[in-house]
Amino acid sequence: MPEIKIGLETHVQLDTETKLFCGCPNEQAEEPNVNTCPTCLGHPGSKPRTNEAVIDAGIQAGLALDCEIAEKVVFSRKTYFYPDMNKNFQITQYEEPVASDGSLALGEKQIGIKRAHIEEDPAKLEHQGGKMESAEYTLVDYNRAGTPLLEIVTEPDIETPEEAREFLQRLIRIMEYLGIYDRDEGSVRSDANISMEGGNRVEVKNITGTRGIQKALEHEIERQEKLVNRGEEVKRETRNYDSEDEVTRSLRTKEEEQEYGYIFEPDLVKINVSEEEVEEAQDSLPELPEEKRHRFLEDYSIEEELADSLVTDPELADAFEESAEIIGGDLAASWFSGPIKKTLNYHELTYSESPLSGEWIVEVLEKLDSGVLSDRAAEKVIREMVEEPREPENIIEEEGLEKAESSEVEQYVEGAVEENPEAVLDYESGEEDALNFLVGQVMEKSGGSADPKEVRELLEDRL
Ligand code: ADP
Ligand code: ZN
Ligand code: MG
Repeated sequence: MPEIKIGLETHVQLDTETKLFCGCPNEQAEEPNVNTCPTCLGHPGSKPRTNEAVIDAGIQAGLALDCEIAEKVVFSRKTYFYPDMNKNFQITQYEEPVASDGSLALGEKQIGIKRAHIEEDPAKLEHQGGKMESAEYTLVDYNRAGTPLLEIVTEPDIETPEEAREFLQRLIRIMEYLGIYDRDEGSVRSDANISMEGGNRVEVKNITGTRGIQKALEHEIERQEKLVNRGEEVKRETRNYDSEDEVTRSLRTKEEEQEYGYIFEPDLVKINVSEEEVEEAQDSLPELPEEKRHRFLEDYSIEEELADSLVTDPELADAFEESAEIIGGDLAASWFSGPIKKTLNYHELTYSESPLSGEWIVEVLEKLDSGVLSDRAAEKVIREMVEEPREPENIIEEEGLEKAESSEVEQYVEGAVEENPEAVLDYESGEEDALNFLVGQVMEKSGGSADPKEVRELLEDRL
């Protein structure tokens, strides 16, 4: 493997009520340009004022990433022209970011966090009739202008595209645990810097999401590898990632940060962050995914894989714990990380978005535990509860899911054996498939209520 260094600059849209420097609602809207005012439209004479909720979110995120928190929050103007930037400058943090020098653990490995700073999102460009290069014309939607972003910059400690994806997933999860990011509302956009074998680094811009980062990096690595193999040098440049064509294209040779001519934003005051404030924020941080995972391993002695899976959704993790109290950690862990999560994923729901309740789940799992429901039946009840929410009791009754009494199943087995003498002969001459056929016959007779494992055992005994 060649030596690869990857550093990410990730923009997370923060989920505050209002925008960063004005009182406009911080939300997407169908209609363009409705959530706007003179400030986020950049009219002359309009004045920004800082939304303190954004500063609080920045401090929380910084602490969750083990960062130092700045004593003063100061904003600067980053000057450049682009059609999405109506003022011709973006208000951002440059000289001193709200948070710096932290880290995020990827298993045993630590990814250094260089800095995290607050800035405003520009407006959204909508290219009409093609891509940026081929569009007939472009519309601008200012609803997004002034949305608070937290830009998190890593050290070049990431070594593979998979690691970059994993990093982003963990980062997003932390933001979700803190309640400052909502994946249904906001987006995560990254620029990736990548160099190979100590060569020049290339910045790939405009990458959306976690799958996107892996894809974009895989393509860029392939491109650089080809150059290196041909004995050519990788140029220091900025490239744009086109997720449709899955290629990166050169945009410009890389500019230096200082070329943006930063100046302090004269319309905003510096905001002091006291030590007490930071301590308070630290004390009120929720339990974070990594801590929860550790605790689950200790408290419930479950497998690592199950703990990893449970902490991906904080509400699912809470529900797991409540159920574990009643039905035990093992049963709860395997069902919450297994069939329950599978069903939620299938419907693209988080636990709290789903109609599931802890009470319902415990009811189902208790019936499973006491042998009233088979594994299959219990899984079916869970699926039904999500798809057509109603009490498990009703589902079990309506669908006739209670496990048939053994004597009944034995009768079905007897019937199936009598009705299918050829299959019995085939089985006796060593054809395993014949047994599967017979199991199917018995299942059919029972209307799906028998436990296939049990049926198989009964058939094996009988034959
Ligand atoms: P700039 O001032 O050019 O934006 P920064 O120091 O802010 O540079 O770093 C930007 C990003 O580039 C960071 O995520 C950092 O980790 C990454 N980076 C720095 N050096 C390298 C390198 N040799 N290879 C890959 N990425 C790098
Ligand atoms: Zn506004
Ligand atoms: Mg930079």
